[in-house]
Amino acid sequence: MSDTAAAGDCIFCRIVAGDLPADILDRSDHAVAFRDLNPQAPVHVLVIPRRHVENAATVEHDDGAVIADMVVLARRVAQDQGIAERGYRLVFNVGEDATNTVPHLHLHLLGGRSMTWPPG
Ligand code: AMP
Ligand code: ZN
Repeated sequence: MSDTAAAGDCIFCRIVAGDLPADILDRSDHAVAFRDLNPQAPVHVLVIPRRHVENAATVEHDDGAVIADMVVLARRVAQDQGIAERGYRLVFNVGEDATNTVPHLHLHLLGGRSMTWPPG
């Protein structure tokens, strides 16, 4: 995981800094959770590291605590949103084929409806 010069222009870094508005639901030591602007399910939340990280393909073993913190925060949001019991999906998109658009690591938390597999 690396901080980059691009972090200054990064919209998700700006949300972490409070410079860009977002519907923030929860925070933890290393992560912030906020609602996706273009929700694909009744509950669609993004969990991001406070520190700029490009994507899941740049994560290293040293980043384990941050990644665990993101997953634990996602679980807490799922519980708070009432979707933990029926289940939810956690997704990291990496690269063009996966339609990754924002170059700051984000874990999609999707739930509140039944889903299909494989995803489109
Ligand atoms: P991905 O395709 O995995 O890169 O997902 C990026 C997600 O970020 C999309 O689901 C967008 O709807 C969402 N998004 C982009 N800008 C914002 C924003 N300012 N606040 C909340 N969600 C955003
Ligand atoms: Zn960033």
